[in-house]
Amino acid sequence: MLKARKCVREIAPYRSPWAHVPVDLRLDMNENTTGCSPRVLARLEQLSGNTLAFYPDRERAEKMVAEFLGRSLSEVLLTNGADEGIDLLCRTFLEPDDEMIMVTPTFPMYEIFARSAGARVVGVPAGPDYSFPLSGVLARVNTRTRMIIISNPHNPTGVVASTSDILSVLDKAPEAAILVDEAYYEFYGYTMLDEVGTLPNLFIARTFSKAYGLAGMRLGVLAGPAEHIAMARRVVSPFNINVFAVECLGEALADQEFVQAYITQVRRTREWFREQVEALGFKSWPSHANFILVNLGEHKDEILKRMVGWGIVLRDRPDCPGCVRITIGKQEEMEVVLEALKTARGQFAGKGRQEQPAP
Ligand code: PMP
Repeated sequence: MLKARKCVREIAPYRSPWAHVPVDLRLDMNENTTGCSPRVLARLEQLSGNTLAFYPDRERAEKMVAEFLGRSLSEVLLTNGADEGIDLLCRTFLEPDDEMIMVTPTFPMYEIFARSAGARVVGVPAGPDYSFPLSGVLARVNTRTRMIIISNPHNPTGVVASTSDILSVLDKAPEAAILVDEAYYEFYGYTMLDEVGTLPNLFIARTFSKAYGLAGMRLGVLAGPAEHIAMARRVVSPFNINVFAVECLGEALADQEFVQAYITQVRRTREWFREQVEALGFKSWPSHANFILVNLGEHKDEILKRMVGWGIVLRDRPDCPGCVRITIGKQEEMEVVLEALKTARGQFAGKGRQEQPAP
């Protein structure tokens, strides 16, 4: 009987529980609720049938991205979302039984891609207040360590690792590919990109899904030393980037006004929302991304369900006890969320665990 590879059979399926529920406000996937640049939309409207009928020219788009990032063409690879960049690195570097280290709780695709390459996943629990556990990571490095992924800012906490901590990891594991996943870089502002090429085992993943509002277009960047990016190119499809992305990239990059306005709004609304949820008595953590982690406490499951009933989806994080991750939307959207949380909290205030309806 045909069977999938053992490592594939052992992977737990990944699916957002509310992904297919129609709702008014989806704040569970850190998407840009303000949409994308109008310049991108205008470009889309200009596309002709001929453009769609021919295979896309990734290199043309790669030149634009390389120039924008101040890197050489040989150091960047455009990917089908940051997801594909992570997968490509796993497929390029991981042999069966190699080890990949990541800080937990984290973005589930790291584990899925590493395991599908046959590697073993070593999760190092985050430190107090979800801080980067430098000594824990360093302690797990051994001769089998072939990859270490640092989500910075970290999903789902929004916490960041310092540059000196990342440098210590790079130093400790010269035989491993160190991937700094900067999917939320634009909301933070600090990057290790300038070290690419100088540090021989550093890779950076970026995405157009968040700050640029192009999650549906599927566009990401993998940057790293030219000799290693050349290896990743050997396993990637030459047409991994669709023609819409190739055609619209120039407009997306040119409209920094759109990106900056969104970043400014997110930062402002995020700090306001954090103050408000803390005033309601919910603990949250300082975030450097377009989401925050909030501890809703023992009534989390009921509150989440109530919110879905009101058309608002938040991301449950069972790996952070009591917590949900909430995308920061527009100010008016977050005001709605806050009111809903207040109402839900009021409905459960004073109720003990035993009195709750069955989940
Ligand atoms: N890395 C992190 C930390 C993420 O949160 C996400 C998406 N939520 C990705 C990578 C993948 O992004 P995409 O494939 O949409 O570029």
